[in-house]
Amino acid sequence: MVLLENLTSTKSRAEFRKNDIAIIPVGSTEQHGAHLPLGTDHFLARYIAREVADRTGILCTPTIPIGISDSHKQFFGTLSVKPQTLKDYVGQVCLSLKSHGIRKVVIYNGHGGNQLPLEEEARVLRSEHKLPTFVCHVVAPTLEKYVDQLFGREGEYHGAHGGAAETSLIMAMHEDLVDKNELKRAKGADKWGREVSGTVVTFDAIDFSTTGTVGLGYEGTKERGVQLLNRTIEETCSFVEWLKKTSAEELLEKPHVD
Ligand SMILES: [Zn+2]
Repeated sequence: MVLLENLTSTKSRAEFRKNDIAIIPVGSTEQHGAHLPLGTDHFLARYIAREVADRTGILCTPTIPIGISDSHKQFFGTLSVKPQTLKDYVGQVCLSLKSHGIRKVVIYNGHGGNQLPLEEEARVLRSEHKLPTFVCHVVAPTLEKYVDQLFGREGEYHGAHGGAAETSLIMAMHEDLVDKNELKRAKGADKWGREVSGTVVTFDAIDFSTTGTVGLGYEGTKERGVQLLNRTIEETCSFVEWLKKTSAEELLEKPHVD
């Protein structure tokens, strides 16, 4: 596996010369209920991005472990930065990679709250810096049906945050960090946020979930986690394989129509 932080500068030069794609794991450090570790989202991003880099031969950077978690601030241990801070930070990391020869960037994001700002930054990188950049989200939306099948339920019961899906993933990679006693009663809200007549009326997780989570964490199992992890890694690998076959020029912004 090509992990940038483990290479010497000299060895990294050889890697940058033969490789024009890099993957950057980005996550969060925030409450995930009483049963999962604060590092859940960046553990997921790091594990999956490294596995994808290993299987596809692309370069993996160090993990960015703190993201936009203001909506979890009432719970102990949550760390957060402003959206603009994350955008600037990740954007500057991407430009450093470009200066060494990287032409296409994959940001592997493990935290929902980071997604939109990262996509906004990716647009700027492509438009203003001619660096095609794409943001993958942990468990791609294309796997929704698979997740429904795997957990035998539809919709958000798997949980957008600390529910069965995320709990299973952490059990598959860091079982030692799951609090087994808390796991038995890990139950969150039915869905993320609350709306009144089509308008969202909640800001923070605590506004709609006393546990800070969504979904049935107690339905998580290591076996399901392994299956979901494998599908997620395969899905991201097939995206990277497509990216390898596509030139950076093809991925740049199109010119204005005549
Ligand atoms: Zn999470």
